[in-house]
Amino acid sequence: MPSAQSVPALEQPANVGDVKLVATAYYNGGAYERDLAAVTSEVSSWLSKRASQVSQPALVLDVDDTVLSNWQVIKADDFGRVIEGPCNALPAGPCGWAAWDLLGRAPAITPSLRMFEQARALGVAVFFITGRPESQRAATERNLRNTGYGGFTRLVMVPDGKHYSSAADFKAPVRAGIEGEGQTIIANMGDQPSDLAGGHAERTFLLPNPFYRIP
Ligand SMILES: [Mg+2]
Repeated sequence: MPSAQSVPALEQPANVGDVKLVATAYYNGGAYERDLAAVTSEVSSWLSKRASQVSQPALVLDVDDTVLSNWQVIKADDFGRVIEGPCNALPAGPCGWAAWDLLGRAPAITPSLRMFEQARALGVAVFFITGRPESQRAATERNLRNTGYGGFTRLVMVPDGKHYSSAADFKAPVRAGIEGEGQTIIANMGDQPSDLAGGHAERTFLLPNPFYRIP
């Protein structure tokens, strides 16, 4: 009789290749889109209820994978976050993220666009706060306008050459400044916890993003 196989306890985490397959199936199978819609639906309900109750209601939104989809580059880079380098080989890739941003070709995330349109119809001012640098302003504004996000109040970007260990270190003080102008930020929506940390919003809403992490 062979003895039962002895398997030593190992500390290895999940296999990255397996996790990439799960993430790809999450996107391709439609569950990602459904989860996005589930969250934006919550935001919509809250905006409908709250916008008329405060003066100068405002909505804060992140840009990347909150209102614009980067799935094309995520897929082309096989989930790598390569910032530098050209982006001239899509759809196969590889594609540098900074070059991709400058193309201004990211499509809208449809549930977010519908929610944005509703916010504007309710008279809610929309502020985009992004970790993208100022050097990408023209491309980013063009991308936003071309995909239907034209009616925003302001796009706040990271000054060129500035780096933050957490996006929250940049974004939370920007929200405080918006409040200081007399706006009431009734909702803040992003795809990273660092979009939402640090307060200065009545409610926060976290979209799904199993594809990458921004500290
Ligand atoms: Mg984002």
